[in-house]
Amino acid sequence: MSTCPFIDLASQQARIGDEIQASIARVLSHGQYIFGPEVSEFEEALGDFVGAGHVVSCANGTDALTLILMAETIGPGDLVFVPAFTFVATAEAVAQLGATPVFVDVDERSFNICPASLRAAIDEAREKGLGRPAAIVAVDLFGQPADYRALRMIADDVGLCLIGDAAQSLGGALDNRRVGTLADYTSTSFFPAKPLGCYGDGGAVLTDDGEKAELLRSLRMHGKGAHKYDTARVGLNSRLDTIQAAILIQKLAIFSDELDRRQDVAARYNKRLDGLCKTPEIKDGAYSSWALYTVRSTERDRIAADLGDSKIPTAIYYPKPLHRMGGYDHFPVVSSGVPVAERLCETVLSLPMHPYLDGDTQERIADAVCKSVASAKADEMGHVVDGLR
Ligand SMILES: *Cc1c(COP(=O)(O)O)cnc(C)c1O
Repeated sequence: MSTCPFIDLASQQARIGDEIQASIARVLSHGQYIFGPEVSEFEEALGDFVGAGHVVSCANGTDALTLILMAETIGPGDLVFVPAFTFVATAEAVAQLGATPVFVDVDERSFNICPASLRAAIDEAREKGLGRPAAIVAVDLFGQPADYRALRMIADDVGLCLIGDAAQSLGGALDNRRVGTLADYTSTSFFPAKPLGCYGDGGAVLTDDGEKAELLRSLRMHGKGAHKYDTARVGLNSRLDTIQAAILIQKLAIFSDELDRRQDVAARYNKRLDGLCKTPEIKDGAYSSWALYTVRSTERDRIAADLGDSKIPTAIYYPKPLHRMGGYDHFPVVSSGVPVAERLCETVLSLPMHPYLDGDTQERIADAVCKSVASAKADEMGHVVDGLR
């Protein structure tokens, strides 16, 4: 039995490898490795795809968040509300700028920031005088957009900037609006394993605000002023390489088809795994980019071990909530705590997910899950019988 890949970049390369090679070769021949024509070509193509007014590419998804926070002059004394259940980069960008991440609980069904917990955290932070509430970073975890309808109301009500961390959700949508148009700013990542990945690091900020887009373009280039060696502000060196842009142009051309395939893969999993574990729930009006397919089970560790024995890779995103991580354990947590985030860390398991996952392989994966769950049940029954003896 062969090992199936968790994310299959080889199949994608077999499909468009020639186009990618040709695209890279064009960069080698013109030699404009930094800000070559492919960079703005890709930015425009992505803007068209998403329906966002402006796309400002940068070096990675973490920098995209940092650039947004810099554009909003967020720093020491400012509070940024973030979910406790996400990849660390969401809070890292906040902490790097000297601002304070405030950890908020998530919704059990969507895994995304819980509006009620957010509201409580904001009210509390004000009462306690923890700092100036400045922004919310909503994360579209595993590909499903956060509850932007509710978040927009809270942000407007309190006067906070609404930022979407769409590192995992590019291609997703809510109420027929693509991710990238749902918040004041959206950050995304082109890390190879993300739905739209390049062959290295890359990222972008999407916004409809033209002035902010200009500011972001300055910030990503050392705070560039009127000309190359004029500086208007303290910035970063954070650019998307031309070669990566050339690769992304080719990948974007098949992205829509890949998103369709991911829907099919998720639907097949849902059908086969229903009743064996808690399958992911997508809210009404939401369209997931299915960066990851994540189930919940109290037998998570056992299933992971059994699948591993059958050469099926799995992953735990994420084993620890952020407020329990080194470097982040001193930041404030909403006083009602983050019990859902804690519980999810104990029960989530991500299965192989990519556009090229075929039905037969999924059958094999589902069979392995089924067998593992059945043996867990049998053991449990054994304990009951032992107890009765
Ligand atoms: C991957 C990821 C990031 C960071 O992206 P990089 O390009 O690796 O810096 C940020 N937030 C979330 C939720 C992510 O999954």
